[in-house]
Amino acid sequence: MKALFSSGGAGSKKGGKKASGAVTGAGVSGSGSGSGSETMEPIELSREAKEAKRQELVERGRVLKEEIHAQETELAGLETQLYDQAVMIPNTTHPESPIGPESEARLVRIQGVPRLNPGVKAFAQPGVAVTSTTGSDILDAGGACGEEGRALLGNVSEYPLLDHVALAKHLDLVDFESATAVTGSRWYYLKNEAALLELALIQFATQRAVKAGFMPVITPDVVRPEVVQACGFQPRDEASQTYWVSTVAPGSTKATATTPDGGAHHHHQHSALCLVATAEIALAGMNLNRVIEESQLPIKMAGFGRAFRAEAGSRGAEVKGLYRVHQFSKVELFVLSKADHGESDRILEDIRKFQEDIFEELGLCYRVLDMPTEELGASAYKKYDIEAWMPGRNGWGEISSTSNCTDYQARRLNIRYRTNKLRQLQPQQQDTSSATPGAGGAVSNSVVSTEFVHTLNGTAMAIPRIIVALLETYQQPDGSVRLPECLWPFMAGIKEIHPK
Ligand code: AMP
Repeated sequence: MKALFSSGGAGSKKGGKKASGAVTGAGVSGSGSGSGSETMEPIELSREAKEAKRQELVERGRVLKEEIHAQETELAGLETQLYDQAVMIPNTTHPESPIGPESEARLVRIQGVPRLNPGVKAFAQPGVAVTSTTGSDILDAGGACGEEGRALLGNVSEYPLLDHVALAKHLDLVDFESATAVTGSRWYYLKNEAALLELALIQFATQRAVKAGFMPVITPDVVRPEVVQACGFQPRDEASQTYWVSTVAPGSTKATATTPDGGAHHHHQHSALCLVATAEIALAGMNLNRVIEESQLPIKMAGFGRAFRAEAGSRGAEVKGLYRVHQFSKVELFVLSKADHGESDRILEDIRKFQEDIFEELGLCYRVLDMPTEELGASAYKKYDIEAWMPGRNGWGEISSTSNCTDYQARRLNIRYRTNKLRQLQPQQQDTSSATPGAGGAVSNSVVSTEFVHTLNGTAMAIPRIIVALLETYQQPDGSVRLPECLWPFMAGIKEIHPK
């Protein structure tokens, strides 16, 4: 598929303009030669004839111009249709990914022991039952693990465990009421230790990422819709979770006439931009039209940004609290790799290991799931989700995910690398201008070629759900919360959170 931002799109449009110019030119020269052949006629007749001819040609020019305009409009419509259909085609999937819906997710491993809540009915995620490769099917996705499971895997608390909403109220950590008045439901103010905790978690994750060789980046949260689409999201879809922003106030007279999208794809010329659902989009877009030397790969980035999600039509049980909100801070990992499945699959395992190390250091109980094909979205070839045990719901909740998107995003964003591998050419394909001199000084039959990179992304730290898991996991009998030691250096000396 044609890269979205390559010169191809703009070129074809210019081609159309050129064609219309050429037709107009032919009309003019026809008029010129006509007048030349009539110079021997009496002057009055000649004028009349010339005028008639001129009128005729002007009329013909007008008709052609209209036809061209109509055909260009039709072509633009067809191109839009073709484009809209083409972007619906998803990536291929890994041969070993489980096939089917969410319920087919494969349990890879469980780390830690769930802190079971005696007071609370297990949280059941409808339709999710996870098959295990490790023989431990006891905990299904909803945490409804039965007595046997509790005894075997669970550490049943001696006192009822509060959920994070009750804990936050008790400890004066979150103001939902003001946020509802100021913005709406599912918005929040983090206060006191919760505000520090967000900053501490960002610092902690970013520092671990930098130590692991990721370049720290702070990303824009607003991007062009074309970039969102090139990453495999459909910002215009009704089911889309995208927030749109415009520089023009609703109802303003300017709202219909602005086309500031300069180099962007000509199908989508208007002033509205998208708030990103994830910094993955901004990090992918940062590499737009880039050609990288193979020796520079892999390129590893850790981007901090805010994520915005409309979360239209989400479930009742998750409406409360911080679990599913409209805006959150996130540290996102993004990697460009060679277009080699062995290599990008290995990097996916490295990212997963990095994520697991972070969650283990935070002392969370979590499980890793190999996600099935229907859960991969358009762009992912293979994806792991990590879910933490959340005692408040007595169940698992997703806290991170990591995907290998192979060359799906790179093709759409035109991100390539120069391979060192010399491509063997058929004799008829030889192009001496790009050929490299062989050892003997002669021109060899090989060229340095470019390939699309593979892209991978992963959540290093999505704040709100980590706060949920930490508060609920580390609560003490009096409702205070003891923080894990790895966060102490970033918490202004605070190790425990108490009522004010
Ligand atoms: P995703 O990009 O959808 O895989 O999300 C990455 C991570 O962001 C998830 O694993 C969650 O931890 C978090 N997340 C996603 N949506 C929300 C939301 N609406 N509110 C809070 N956290 C979210």
